[in-house]
Amino acid sequence: MSKRVLIVGAGPGGLATAMLLAKAGLEVTVLERQPRIGGRTSVLECDGYRFDLGPTFFLYPQILEEIFQAVGRDLRQEVPMQQLDPQYRLIFGAGGELLCCPDTERMVGEIAKLAPADAPRFRQFMADNRVKLAKFAPCLQTPFLGWGDLLQARLISVLPYLKPWKSLHAELAGYFRDSRLQLAFTFQSKYLGMSPFQCPSLFSILSFLEYEHGVWHPIGGCNALSVAMGRVATELGTVFRLGEPAVEILFEGRRAVGARTASGEVRADAVVVNADFGHAVTSLVPGHLRRRWTDATVARKRFSCSTFMLYLGVEGRLDQLAHHNIYVASDYRRNLEEIERRHVLTEDPSFYVQNASVTDSTLAPPGHSTLYVLVPVSHQHPNIDWAMERQRYRQVALRQVAKLGVPDLERRIRCERVVTPAQWESELGIYRGATFNLAHNLGQMLHLRPRNRFEEFDRMYLVGGGTHPGSGLPVIFESARISARLLLEDLGRLTS
Ligand SMILES: Cc1cc2nc3c(=O)[nH]c(=O)nc-3n(C[C@H](O)[C@H](O)[C@H](O)COP(=O)(O)OP(=O)(O)OC[C@H]3O[C@@H](n4cnc5c(N)ncnc54)[C@H](O)[C@@H]3O)c2cc1C
Repeated sequence: MSKRVLIVGAGPGGLATAMLLAKAGLEVTVLERQPRIGGRTSVLECDGYRFDLGPTFFLYPQILEEIFQAVGRDLRQEVPMQQLDPQYRLIFGAGGELLCCPDTERMVGEIAKLAPADAPRFRQFMADNRVKLAKFAPCLQTPFLGWGDLLQARLISVLPYLKPWKSLHAELAGYFRDSRLQLAFTFQSKYLGMSPFQCPSLFSILSFLEYEHGVWHPIGGCNALSVAMGRVATELGTVFRLGEPAVEILFEGRRAVGARTASGEVRADAVVVNADFGHAVTSLVPGHLRRRWTDATVARKRFSCSTFMLYLGVEGRLDQLAHHNIYVASDYRRNLEEIERRHVLTEDPSFYVQNASVTDSTLAPPGHSTLYVLVPVSHQHPNIDWAMERQRYRQVALRQVAKLGVPDLERRIRCERVVTPAQWESELGIYRGATFNLAHNLGQMLHLRPRNRFEEFDRMYLVGGGTHPGSGLPVIFESARISARLLLEDLGRLTS
């Protein structure tokens, strides 16, 4: 008899897992509390304008391509995508700009315009990180289920490249003397919701990945990846129950056996949790059953930053903006300090603007644009009352965007949505509104992160940004591969 699996959450991690498990012949049901699939990687629609709710940078498509291949599909056919060139424009509040290009020689030329003496160092940065990624990749593909896994020869051989004593920023200062360049290759730690001054040096592989494998834009936005995964999973037999949240995970002894929803129990041989880890474990798993991940333990963990979002449908084209534009605050250290330690709002914050209509005509009516504005801010904290700050911070964000050469933006807005950290928490069910999940400090990585084969219960697995390897689409897809493999092993269904 075919085995039944229940997946709680149809975010990218849940969707990729559904594809793999359905292909393996399991009966897969997905419960999703929203009326649509995709989670943070879903679409936001507003009067004919379409936005990605969350991810806009698609890096390292290889992992998702391999997952599609594994189920007999071709990702590029399912989702047309375009490599961006330039990949983004960096604007430094301290002065100067950098147009970041995928071609090494052109990039060396762009760096030379900003800091000539540093330009040749880019090649060395790429060469060193190529080796580092090759060494570390197997660790990202392996489950870390205990201390024993850390002692594997493979990881020990990576330690000299990991440099656990060094921050990402200190690592880059070894390559580039110009402080703006140090930031140009470290701001990517914000993808993990972390400051480069705190983030482990290992994560220099993030900026390397951009230059080595490109920054991709799926046509329709990153949410098109979710739609395609949902379509393929359905064709493989997965049943999606949208708008039906799990209210409790069910256990018999210490074995997960399904979930309860408003319409009854859904029984299964295994349960995969894709819902935000902090939220799911504290609200779906009865407290008396938890030994390691008590409410108090979760509360003590370090969480990523959050984001203040504006989604703007705008009349006219904004060809003065690139597809991706990143403004680095003039006092970047202070901006990060205010986000991560002081938990207060910054008046000249760093921010990111996506002007995807320059690449993709499917997102706005002809002659119009979609602007996605993301301001990294503290996760939910008593210091900030978003009911009070929402309107004021909207003005701050618009004032910042004007700095990129869009002075008359407000007059041209035809449709607008705002999402604050409070809404990420209450509407999207994200613990403390920490949009990038648990932080990625070394004390919360590998086997110290909530494990793919969840350590508390039998037949319960985690996928998504809260488990190993971490947050960000490529590694979330890797988590789906790891957890699907463990589950199939445990159910005796692994054929290769
Ligand atoms: C603003 C923002 C920008 C980002 N930018 C990037 C980027 O550019 N590139 C990148 O690679 N990554 C980015 N990320 C990070 C990450 O890739 C996404 O957040 C990704 O969607 C996380 O996927 P996930 O699988 O962990 O699950 P999620 O997307 O969090 O999905 C979890 C799903 O579980 C559902 N759920 C919750 N509770 C229940 C319940 N009780 N019952 C049923 N269902 C439930 C939720 O509704 C949701 O659909 C960004 C994130 C955000 C928020």
